[in-house]
Amino acid sequence: MNILVINCGSSSLKYQLINSETGDVLAKGLCERIGIDGSCLTHTPAGKDKVVIKEEMPDHNKAVKMVIDALTDENHGVVKSLSEIGAVGHRVVHGGEKFNKAVLIDEGVLKDIEELSSLAPLHNPANIIGINACKENMPTTPQVAVFDTAFHQTMPKKAYLYGLPYEYYEKYKVRRYGFHGTSHDFVSKHAAEMIGKDRKDLKIIVCHLGNGASVSAVKNGECVDTSMGLTPLEGLMMGTRSGDMDPAIMEYICKQENLTASEMNTVLNKKSGVYGLSNYTSSDFRDLGEAAEAGNTYAKDALDTYSYRVAKYIGAYMMAMGGVDIIAFTAGIGENNYQVRRGVCDYLEGMGIAIDDEKLKIRGEDLIVSKEGSKIQVMIVPTNEELAIAQQTLALL
Ligand code: AMP
Repeated sequence: MNILVINCGSSSLKYQLINSETGDVLAKGLCERIGIDGSCLTHTPAGKDKVVIKEEMPDHNKAVKMVIDALTDENHGVVKSLSEIGAVGHRVVHGGEKFNKAVLIDEGVLKDIEELSSLAPLHNPANIIGINACKENMPTTPQVAVFDTAFHQTMPKKAYLYGLPYEYYEKYKVRRYGFHGTSHDFVSKHAAEMIGKDRKDLKIIVCHLGNGASVSAVKNGECVDTSMGLTPLEGLMMGTRSGDMDPAIMEYICKQENLTASEMNTVLNKKSGVYGLSNYTSSDFRDLGEAAEAGNTYAKDALDTYSYRVAKYIGAYMMAMGGVDIIAFTAGIGENNYQVRRGVCDYLEGMGIAIDDEKLKIRGEDLIVSKEGSKIQVMIVPTNEELAIAQQTLALL
């Protein structure tokens, strides 16, 4: 079955049309600047040149119409009609405690996603807009919601509760939810397959290191802890997000710099992480690597701090699970960046895990990088969130 996977942001819409049986991507694309002047659709059919269609998209409804037109176009389309699209799988960021797996979307589910918007005010409303636009343009096609938080719902209370007044959990649902769940699920499953085992028999640590980054502990196939929290700000230091820090810094810097809490929140999300720590050199790890090699000490400190924090989480999760069988690196940095992987593996070698440095330099493919005979397998496992969404959509139908 062909499944259209939609990842909708407030002014953008990413899509892939996937044959869910073979995993082949028939076409993918991006609508940018929706509701802003200069909107355009970039559509890439498999094996053909990409097409850029510049046309005003005042809203997501128009964007979805243009996506359907592109997919069914005589020249650059990949299907003859909408009837060849069996379902739509939507990435939805926050499923709260309500959703621990993908669900078929009906009015009740939409209402629940809307209610959860207070926990993800930047993301859930955009996801709802995308769902409504698809419902309007493809009224007879089943729509499925796949939640970023769902895989982490198996965490025990001791992992998801914060050391705060309990009433905040009861009244406002303040707890750890975790994100990137689709990726942690996909990668942990695939990592186990790479050594011919079922993840039900393994302890796996997944390091999803992209512009946003999180680590998870997956024991016997279930998530038992993860580094992101109520929001994606907690945990690892990221491209522009601070990750873990002393919460008292908030008030201190607000007073020093005369900022409101909301302005400080923006600093923590947009101006911190390796970007802030490198004295605003860059949030991109390629730039940081080059800068560090050229002698930029801010960039070097940022990279050192980054690897150190990943290693600390790995250590913590080994303790949480009583050991580990597989440590998997994934996402843009985890799949491609030798410097960061090398930095983290220095700590692993300190624990007696032998790493094949030549393999560690290889980019972007399924690969075991620990030396043969290692009790703990270290791997690179490229993630594929779109395929995972398509597979979960198919499974549900
Ligand atoms: P993501 O959010 O998963 O797309 O990851 C983005 C991050 O991956 C950026 O910091 C990039 O610098 C990094 N990245 C992507 N490709 C490479 C590469 N070839 N070498 C090093 N870093 C890369």
